[in-house]
Amino acid sequence: MARSKERPRQHRKPTHLVLFPCPLQGHITPMLQLATILHSKGFSITIVHTQFNSPNPSNYPNFNFEHISDGLSADQAQKYDVMALVALLNINCHDPFSDWMARMLSEQDPRDMIACIVSDALMHFTQSVADHLKIPRIILRASSATSFVTCAAFPLLREKGYLPIQDPESETPVSELPPLRIKDLPNISTDDSDTLYQLVAHMNNETRNSSGLIYNSFDYIEETALAKIRQDFPIPFFPIGPLHKYSSGSSSSLLPHDQSCMVWLDKQVAGSVIYVSFGSLASMEKEELVEIAWGLANSGQPFLWVVRPGLVRGSAMAEMPDGFEEQTRERGLIVKWAPQQEVLAHPSVGCFWTHNGWNSTVESICEGVPMLCWPCFGDQKVNARLVSHVLKVGVQLENGLEREKIGWAIRRLMVEKEGEEMKKRIRKLKEKADRCLRKGGSSYESLDRLVNCILSFKRTTPGFSPTGSGSIPQTSSRGDWGESG
Ligand code: UDP
Repeated sequence: MARSKERPRQHRKPTHLVLFPCPLQGHITPMLQLATILHSKGFSITIVHTQFNSPNPSNYPNFNFEHISDGLSADQAQKYDVMALVALLNINCHDPFSDWMARMLSEQDPRDMIACIVSDALMHFTQSVADHLKIPRIILRASSATSFVTCAAFPLLREKGYLPIQDPESETPVSELPPLRIKDLPNISTDDSDTLYQLVAHMNNETRNSSGLIYNSFDYIEETALAKIRQDFPIPFFPIGPLHKYSSGSSSSLLPHDQSCMVWLDKQVAGSVIYVSFGSLASMEKEELVEIAWGLANSGQPFLWVVRPGLVRGSAMAEMPDGFEEQTRERGLIVKWAPQQEVLAHPSVGCFWTHNGWNSTVESICEGVPMLCWPCFGDQKVNARLVSHVLKVGVQLENGLEREKIGWAIRRLMVEKEGEEMKKRIRKLKEKADRCLRKGGSSYESLDRLVNCILSFKRTTPGFSPTGSGSIPQTSSRGDWGESG
């Protein structure tokens, strides 16, 4: 049978991006912020997401949203084991995403070719899909560069006996990763610690195999870690943070923001309010909530406290201790979920009691608000150490929560000279963050390089078959995928 004449392939600049977030609040937000930035640079955007924790498409009329099956049972989706959940998603989403992606590539509009996949680092399975379909994959790391350096050192830390952690309260320094102590190493409560090590190993390997690495960070806050990654991971590297300064996170919130707290903040004295929030995942025992409540009450400072459903383990909604509401009614407000970026930017806020999730940490730095650090799990401990011992813009609460200790830490931040010094330092960082984003700044330049890197991914237009059911289009080889770092 005569073979049909092949059409000459045309080279066009591919401008369509397929983004795959990890379906957790602290990961969805930076991915949608990145999408907004890249859209403003002329790219068209498709967000592929799971049914679990799906974002609200109506907040993003310019993006195309596609959901794929995540295969999670109701039980699995509710279980409090984030690592097990992420590991499961990496298995369950592989085939549905691969099938969807292959279909998209075969049907794509030659005027809007897919340039690459941009995926959260935790969704490491997307690399094997990308390799199979011969399409570049760029990674967004939603956590700090410092925590990534720690994760990359896991094999060494295991070899040297630091991991698995024997004593989670150990103050012994990890000489290979100063200024971390054993108690600062990422520790995630999972039913199966091998799951964690495997996940980290996959994530590290697939980072090496990727075509680029994006960070929500900037040189002034993580200079050492960013330099180490540049040196150890020979792939294009783009620290373009702080992402929320380009585009707020309010549209990507999975819970509705209670705006009433902004009116309340308007009535408070400048710099007087302690804002308290432990993010979307951290949870605590009832006894810890009681200590926090009395610590805040005894501090004498006004406070805005986010008590989200599920914050206290085993109860849908936390109950405050007897007498707490009467004592604090005049100067405290509790909400289920706050517009955090607006709150931190409000002049009344003088301190942020945080779990040091990376988004919260960056948001606090960018508004010049010193932190009371109470890390709970995972990278939060590494971030808290960065804040308190490297940047010196926060105080860490350690060795259990006690109301007296809380009161003392709040005084250090809000009253003592030490707190004044921290305020000065964090305001300088805020200025530097602003500078990074301006023309000539490091993040501005990195974003330019990222855009050019994506545009350099040479892909060829597919030769559509008459029936339209073409095979996967040809791409140029990995070697043609463009620039390096
Ligand atoms: N956040 C919010 N309202 C709240 C608490 C948190 O909008 O009441 C947002 C916050 O601004 C941040 C995200 O939720 O962007 C939490 O991410 P982070 O990395 O700090 O912590 P995680 O939730 O992943 O532990």
